[in-house]
Amino acid sequence: MASVLNAPYFQDEAAAYAKLESIVWPHGPVCPHCKSTDRMKLMGGNATRPGLYKCYACRKQSRVTVGTVFESSHIKLHVWLQAAFLMCSSKKGISSNQLARVLGLTVKSAWFMSHRLREAMTGGIMPDVFGGEGSVVEIDEAFIGRKEGAEVKRGYRHKNAVLSLVERRPEGARVISFHVDGTSPATLLPINRAHFAKATFVMTDEAPQYSRLDTHFVGHDCTTHNTGEYVRGKVHTNTVEGTIACSNGA
Ligand SMILES: [Zn+2]
Repeated sequence: MASVLNAPYFQDEAAAYAKLESIVWPHGPVCPHCKSTDRMKLMGGNATRPGLYKCYACRKQSRVTVGTVFESSHIKLHVWLQAAFLMCSSKKGISSNQLARVLGLTVKSAWFMSHRLREAMTGGIMPDVFGGEGSVVEIDEAFIGRKEGAEVKRGYRHKNAVLSLVERRPEGARVISFHVDGTSPATLLPINRAHFAKATFVMTDEAPQYSRLDTHFVGHDCTTHNTGEYVRGKVHTNTVEGTIACSNGA
């Protein structure tokens, strides 16, 4: 029996795009910028990467990956499809480390992919990327409840850490929150990188785990809690179902 992973869309980039297009655009290509359906032309030529369309209504280029979990990634789409298949087909799921070994990826890439795919599959977040050119996204942690078996003490070490990402847009703020194992840069940075476009301007408090964010995103600024400026970063604590107690007691 031939392996399912021999299907062309798992092996070939153009076939992978064709497959995704058949799922996302069942009635033909739709421009993500102007929603035009009849002026989209597939770009040809050897220099053009697969799946690139030009919309002759708004003259912008796009791919079917815009607005999906596959957006803004350097990883090839057929590799993404393999990862998605492996994650869906193994009963107990597959760890990032396993995914890295099986697909020949770095652990970092595999972590990024499995994080995005898992979140999309559980419906926990919107499947697209936060931020982008001209947008500001706020990052903050909060501590809620109590870790299983943890003894209640002063401070927040016995509580569950929650990372929230907030994007302010004219049509309303978007918020996603995740339970995280801790608040070290090693834990938080991959999440931030997985969910933000590089062109995003990031706002955080002055916590040291955020001190190097400007090397990953277009810009980074801090609010200063102790001068009362924290209100800029605090607003979102009301929007996450009203349950999150702010880590700073504010
Ligand atoms: Zn268009």
